[in-house]
Amino acid sequence: MNKIGLHYAYWIGTEAVDAGAYKWLEMAKKAGCEVNEIGMQAILDMTTEERREYKKAVADAGMCLSINDGWTVKDDIAADDPAVRRIGIEKAKRVLQAMYEVGSDRWSGINYSQWLRRPGVPVCTPEYKRHVRDLSLESMREIIKTAEDCGVDYCFEIVNRFEQFIMNTAEEGVKFCEDLGSPNAKLLLDTFHMNIEEDNIADAIKYAQSKGRMGHLHVGESNRRVPGFEGRTNMNWDAIMGAVKESGYAGYIVMEPFMTMGNTEICCWRDMSHGADVETMIGYAKDGADFLRGKLA
Ligand code: MN
Repeated sequence: MNKIGLHYAYWIGTEAVDAGAYKWLEMAKKAGCEVNEIGMQAILDMTTEERREYKKAVADAGMCLSINDGWTVKDDIAADDPAVRRIGIEKAKRVLQAMYEVGSDRWSGINYSQWLRRPGVPVCTPEYKRHVRDLSLESMREIIKTAEDCGVDYCFEIVNRFEQFIMNTAEEGVKFCEDLGSPNAKLLLDTFHMNIEEDNIADAIKYAQSKGRMGHLHVGESNRRVPGFEGRTNMNWDAIMGAVKESGYAGYIVMEPFMTMGNTEICCWRDMSHGADVETMIGYAKDGADFLRGKLA
């Protein structure tokens, strides 16, 4: 059965968001998860020795480590300014090296351009979109070699139209991977984004897997609550988890819920946790992991 994980951004809006890599590992474990997903800064800030220690802590907990993160306006590898692209490219190589040392083989996120980037033109023509996509591809041709050397699957997160514009569907993502032409080029599909952009979520998963590009899966309700939260849902979880099983996707399934206010980029403008404290939030995540395993059984 697929390993179930928890994204550390779940703790946004709680005191645990700044608790650090060891605490996030402990909380993910307590939530009954097998994958601890954290951001890149946590491992960049570690020394080589500290990465070795963290790798051991993850293994001792019986867990796996995945990284979910991407670029900003300062290090966008698809920026028009070559100096900005170079900053991102060199940072990507440092992230991949750090991942090798900390024992993580999967980097997902908007790691092909900038999160929340809008075209810098009044009208986005197909030509302009292709221009930005080409800039990303050019940078990725250099980065992907390091990913191959470090044994990391580089998973492009396909997000909805409000968060990026060069790829919004599994089909566009597969094409990008094929144009890049590396076996380490994969996709992260996310039910929240697919619910907006795909004709059919289950078909999108099956398609990406059939093309050999399904590298990672994020799950959450359409309003980003924990999967199956309180038994109420808009998502066809039987079909989604059925697609995971039927397609043979054996990778991680990581919950990425956002239930609390506080982050102005996530745009959750109400408390959806019923005022939960951290312990209650851990309980919600555990229920979500159990819910997913029930659907996969
Ligand atoms: Mn996601």
